[in-house]
Amino acid sequence: MIFNLDVLTDASAPRRYDVCVIGGGAAGITLAKKLADLGKTVALCEGGSDGYEGDSQDIYAGDVVGDPYYDLDAARLRFFGGSTNHWAGKCRSFEEADFDRAHLGPEFEWPIGKSAFDAYLEEAGEVLNIRTSFNDEVVDEEFGIKRFVFRHSSVNFGEKFRDFFEGSDKADLYLNANLTALTLQEGTRRITSAGFTGYGDTQMEIAADSVVFAMGGIENSRQLLYFHRQLGDQLYDAALPVGQYWMEHPHFNLGEALVSRRVQELGLISLTGPIQKKLGILACGFRVDIQGGTATRRLVKNLLCVAPNLGTHIANLAEKNLVCGVRLKAAWEQAPAASNAVKLHGSKVDRFGVPLSELHWAKTDLDRLTMAKSTWQFAQYCMQRGYGRFKMQDWIMTGGDYPSNDELAGFHHMGGTRMAKTAALGVVDADCKVFGTENLYMAGSSVFTTAGHNNPTLPIVQLALRLGDHLAGQGAQ
Ligand SMILES: Cc1cc2nc3c(=O)[nH]c(=O)nc-3n(C[C@H](O)[C@H](O)[C@H](O)COP(=O)(O)OP(=O)(O)OC[C@H]3O[C@@H](n4cnc5c(N)ncnc54)[C@H](O)[C@@H]3O)c2cc1C
Repeated sequence: MIFNLDVLTDASAPRRYDVCVIGGGAAGITLAKKLADLGKTVALCEGGSDGYEGDSQDIYAGDVVGDPYYDLDAARLRFFGGSTNHWAGKCRSFEEADFDRAHLGPEFEWPIGKSAFDAYLEEAGEVLNIRTSFNDEVVDEEFGIKRFVFRHSSVNFGEKFRDFFEGSDKADLYLNANLTALTLQEGTRRITSAGFTGYGDTQMEIAADSVVFAMGGIENSRQLLYFHRQLGDQLYDAALPVGQYWMEHPHFNLGEALVSRRVQELGLISLTGPIQKKLGILACGFRVDIQGGTATRRLVKNLLCVAPNLGTHIANLAEKNLVCGVRLKAAWEQAPAASNAVKLHGSKVDRFGVPLSELHWAKTDLDRLTMAKSTWQFAQYCMQRGYGRFKMQDWIMTGGDYPSNDELAGFHHMGGTRMAKTAALGVVDADCKVFGTENLYMAGSSVFTTAGHNNPTLPIVQLALRLGDHLAGQGAQ
């Protein structure tokens, strides 16, 4: 059933469920439905309503310290369906190379492997209405050039799954239910109930065997930090790196190129795992966007000035439509760095008294190296194989600052409650349970140990399905 906390008449008595899932985005909706399908009773508590409301969205305000980034209340959506209410739907999961990073340091090591994601690929495809074959193709072994594809999902989670909650006798959806309290069993780290407040100040308490935070890649950290403080630093061990190792995918235009049909047809390009390893870098995905005739002629003219013979050759090919101008864009992986962190704001609070987010975010040296070396490798491939010539942006060639008027990043909020083998390097274990707690779990990209270069929602869904099996399998303990 669906309830609206703002008009709930009998909110005073605690309601009991097997699992309380907090946050109704891709992660929370997938998890709540999976648990209900497995016979568990679930309360899905969503802080927003089923459409955009300023009162809810304002809670997402915050400050960013460091590199230029989007306003935090514009970088995500706070109502049922979460950010899938305006996402682009590009889907792709982690790759083998993402789990082969021990050579870069222990902070790059996941406690689970790719097989843990693969086991849920088909099921996630059904959630997202996508095909799950990706058919990557290594097009040049020596240069390590790989063609890859995204699948496109048009699923808006709020729209697709609303009817499910309306008709379910296992899963109840509470709208306008903002997490405002957690209660611990005396002397333990077991959460006995969670408290919620609406916009008219109606309050409700949900008692559950397990509690899952699924509030998004910034809020999971903010709320965890806040409730730890509220509960007299008793919620988790003080040494846990909560909020830290936050990651995005830097997105920038790298420059222009004149390339042959062969390269245009590749469309999306990345480097193979062995080449990434050899170069000591992370993953980077290139997008080749074809430009019109005017841009092609301008690039040919420029080339004729600096390299007349080659320019003449290319001009001939361009006339035959065998070469054309492209814009090269890249989205790449950011290293997990403890200094990139979600913190509680020192002076600003939301309407419920919770400190707003203060996001500390800057790109690292390895991030820069990843972009520069990947670009160089791709440019070398094109030049040496006779497939094209690049004109990179000046800031790349000179090592200058990143431009502040470019795409900047992907709206992908990852890390902060990362998964790790030990509590020294992470917040949750391989089952997404917060280290040292008895029944508190995290869902969403906040648990990512590393970010890969692919978009996060398909793996978010895979992990939510996996968590559902785990919670149901062990009797929702
Ligand atoms: C413009 C844009 C384009 C994108 N394009 C892509 C793409 O092409 N491919 C891709 O994979 N990803 C894309 N993303 C990212 C993608 O949308 C997110 O990865 C995904 O939606 C995250 O799902 P989630 O459930 O973890 O978090 P969210 O979507 O953030 O959901 C969290 C939910 O928790 C609720 N909530 C928050 N705080 C509380 C609280 N205190 N109490 C109760 N409820 C609360 C929120 O209202 C929200 O509904 C894009 C994002 C944006 C903004």
